Amino acid sequence: MFEGITEGLTNAFSAFRGSGKITEANIRDGMKQVRTALLEADVAFDVAQDFVKQVTEQAIGAEVLKSLRPDQQIVGIVNQCLIDLMAGDHQLAIKRDGITVIMMCGLQGSGKTTTCGKLAKMLKEDGKSPFLVAADLQRPAAIEQLKVIGDQVGCPVYHEDPAKSDPVQVCRNGVKQAKASGATVVILDTAGRLGIDDELMKELQRIDNRVAPDTCLFVCDAMTGQDAVNSARAFNEALELDGVILTKLDGDTRGGAALSVKAVTGVPIKYVGVGEQLDRLEQFHPDRMAGRILGMGDVLSLVEKAQQEFDEDEMLAQQEKMQQGKFTLDDFRKQMRQIKKLGSMREVMKMIPGMGKVVDQLGDMNPEDDMVRIEGIINSMTLDERNNPDTIDRSRRNRIASGSGVEPAEVNKLLKDFGAMGKMMQGMSNMGMKDRMKAVKQ
Ligand code: GDP
Repeated sequence: MFEGITEGLTNAFSAFRGSGKITEANIRDGMKQVRTALLEADVAFDVAQDFVKQVTEQAIGAEVLKSLRPDQQIVGIVNQCLIDLMAGDHQLAIKRDGITVIMMCGLQGSGKTTTCGKLAKMLKEDGKSPFLVAADLQRPAAIEQLKVIGDQVGCPVYHEDPAKSDPVQVCRNGVKQAKASGATVVILDTAGRLGIDDELMKELQRIDNRVAPDTCLFVCDAMTGQDAVNSARAFNEALELDGVILTKLDGDTRGGAALSVKAVTGVPIKYVGVGEQLDRLEQFHPDRMAGRILGMGDVLSLVEKAQQEFDEDEMLAQQEKMQQGKFTLDDFRKQMRQIKKLGSMREVMKMIPGMGKVVDQLGDMNPEDDMVRIEGIINSMTLDERNNPDTIDRSRRNRIASGSGVEPAEVNKLLKDFGAMGKMMQGMSNMGMKDRMKAVKQ
């Protein structure tokens, strides 16, 4: 995510490195590079101009802080300006009583139908009772797709025969049925087209007027950069959008849409899609997004994700086992599986500050491959072997190696590494915090 702009901005900040203070000359040089980085990231021209102006004004007026180097001070200013650029009302308004109707719109292929399912899943996990309405009668497979997604999420899907109905009728009947079934949030999956056309806009306006949704969200593909921003503007003129959902951020190396859409349209981003699976939807936080863009990592998102995915009781039990030196290969496998739930190892590593560069250095290496091999080796052991690795002799080791398709030396290495890890953890559990830090540094 955002590799291009992160690198561009990092280079721009280096203009301030080495000099003792912020001067007009280094601001001029640095800001030229910031502007180039933004334009290369496909940020709208006016937005890039305004942004540089803001940062320049603040940099000139900035108090000289002795504790900070000029490049650090500039990073701080740019970070705050990025946050301001994207800030808005990011909460999705859901009524306390009664039913909330959300109309989803967007161009075909933007990820609208998938996002309807992701949103339903998120709302369900938040204790709401979502209900999906298949009002995209244009794309032949859309109704079927929403039914499948609804099944996966465990959320009812209302649909009618497209040959005998029209979208307004489907939406009205859908809302009626949702109310009758006790749902609290209705999500209308409306039709998209390949491009913006009059007919599409009129259809959406008719739904908007006749069904009167509480919220209208525009789904757009972040990877299309300025095109996404321009289509958001056109939809906003026709429909008065309440929010934007940016999809495919996981494949967006530039970040232009994320940075420009609020500034150009005035409509805040509410959620971002970060993968194809239905759990890959995140609430939008401008501060975290700025952190990602600056390559400062995104620890908060990682923590939130970990809290959602990890079974806390299980984690505590494992921690206790570690402290008592009873952590087994079976526990180790459980932990690996939990980590995998967070998403691709590369993405997880990128969220940790300072790890971005390490990920770049991995080149074609794939950390998941290692995890798959290790899990394969552990899978080939019996439960008794996993709990008591000392019982693994030469013949057992050869059996495990051939069962998991690796060389016996790899089984040996895993056992050795695991033994060393166990000893270290047991040792650490007896130390105070300071000693632990020291031990890790060594
Ligand atoms: P629609 O025509 O707008 O309803 O689009 P779909 O929901 O059918 O999505 C189009 C494609 O985009 C599908 O292959 C989805 O799996 C994919 N997609 C949707 N959201 C995301 C996302 O956040 N990340 C990635 N990588 N793919 C996504």
